Amino acid sequence: MAVDLDALDGAETNWCAAGFEAQLGRRFSLGELQQHPQSVIGLWPDLTIGYLNPAWVLFAGANGPGPSPQIWMGRNYLDAIAPTARPFYRALIEQTPSPELSLHPRDFEYDCSSPDIFRRFVMHIYVLPAGGGWLIINSTRVETRYDALSPRVGLEHYLFDDEWIRQCAYCRRVKHAVFEDRWDWLTTPWPISGISITHGMCGVCAAYYSPRQGS
Ligand SMILES: [Zn+2]
Repeated sequence: MAVDLDALDGAETNWCAAGFEAQLGRRFSLGELQQHPQSVIGLWPDLTIGYLNPAWVLFAGANGPGPSPQIWMGRNYLDAIAPTARPFYRALIEQTPSPELSLHPRDFEYDCSSPDIFRRFVMHIYVLPAGGGWLIINSTRVETRYDALSPRVGLEHYLFDDEWIRQCAYCRRVKHAVFEDRWDWLTTPWPISGISITHGMCGVCAAYYSPRQGS
């Protein structure tokens, strides 16, 4: 299913930086990416954004006046990511092997919820030829309105005295407010509206991704 360009209601759909179309064209068809139903982002070798497809613009517009292509074109992709998780995403992207070296799939599931909607996405990373950058496609794996879900079951166990929840920026586990060093995986998605969340790292992720940084 191709993206419904009519839904963009006349908005600008050509967000490809000068020179980046040639980079993309060495491996991909720009016309196909323009019609892709999922958000596609093209990155220059320094991780700045060189391309956003119409599905990205549609998704951004559906989530309020936050991200707009005017703001994000030419900005570093990592600016959209929590500071504690930036080293991980930089390595995830930059260390993706090109298909000439390895077909090892580089996909990664992550949370991208809004106050009303619980979402999980899968990020696929594709290397452009000759060090030309990357193409990232973000596909929806789960999308559910919170009001269709259970209320905040047991969330009180994770609210600290300051009314904040601590969540691991890598694996999304949340820190238990009573038992020290316990980080739980919550199987029930919980509404985030009205809740303050701060990001850190659980013990396992700190040891693995940032051994010198500690927890
Ligand atoms: Zn973790």
